[in-house]
Amino acid sequence: MSRPALVYDIDYDVDFQGHIFPVEKYRQTYDRLVSSGVIEFVDVVKPSPATRDDLLLVHEPRYVMDFMESAHTLRMLSSELPVADDIRDFFLLTTGGSITAVREALARGVGINLGGGFHHAFPDHAEGFCYVNDIAVGIRRAKQDRLLRRALVVDCDVHQGNGTAVIFANDPDIFTFSIHQEHNYPVKQKSDLDIGLEDRTGDSEYLRHLRDVVPRLLDQHEPDLVFYVAGADTYEGDQLGGLSLTMDGLRERDELVIGEARGRGVGVAIAFAGGYSYRPQDVPEIHSATCRAAIEAG
Ligand SMILES: [Zn+2]
Repeated sequence: MSRPALVYDIDYDVDFQGHIFPVEKYRQTYDRLVSSGVIEFVDVVKPSPATRDDLLLVHEPRYVMDFMESAHTLRMLSSELPVADDIRDFFLLTTGGSITAVREALARGVGINLGGGFHHAFPDHAEGFCYVNDIAVGIRRAKQDRLLRRALVVDCDVHQGNGTAVIFANDPDIFTFSIHQEHNYPVKQKSDLDIGLEDRTGDSEYLRHLRDVVPRLLDQHEPDLVFYVAGADTYEGDQLGGLSLTMDGLRERDELVIGEARGRGVGVAIAFAGGYSYRPQDVPEIHSATCRAAIEAG
């Protein structure tokens, strides 16, 4: 078993100008990993910012130009976040984090980006809290570098991975699976496999779906990499989510996805995506538990 890489930089921090996205969760999660001693079992790796060429592997040139210039165009203003240079730099760094997490996952088994998971960004425009689809950039960068052939995206955020679904719609090498709350943001796109759950679906039904689907997709698609989008907003105490997973259910979810992949020798990259719990301490707890599950799966 090799040690997971934890990709993090103190600059995973930016002023979202009062927006609900709790960007401080990254530092809080890191601090929690330190105070609990979990940090001793991972190697912390610093990311480099993604480049314009990295973004162009996924996003259209006009949108990349707008993004790099923090331009107030419709392609940018479709995001719910402010348009600002420091927010651009934050997205470049966290996207670099997902590129690094994928590389580390392929090299050593597990790479965790303590950030990222911005699955609502489309090729040609921003959406939700997402300017750059770091999941797709990470996968495409590795494919371009011939580090992987096939990948499986397992998106367990409470919201559908709509941008990721569109980006990989015509790419048979990348299978997109999203399990989410059906009656919630966003307008749904077509993933390779979608499971849209009823409001307040709890642990047992959620985990039954995952137990049925994840091993089957791994066996059928034979990916070199699983990109696990480990959203914390499926938690029962979330402000934006309407599912009812408990802390124990989330832990089982993590163990199942990571364990099934690692059991087959498949690399796992992880990004944290959403999490808006009423109690601010719950999101760092959920993300820390995902790190622990990754360490145990090795
Ligand atoms: Zn979400």
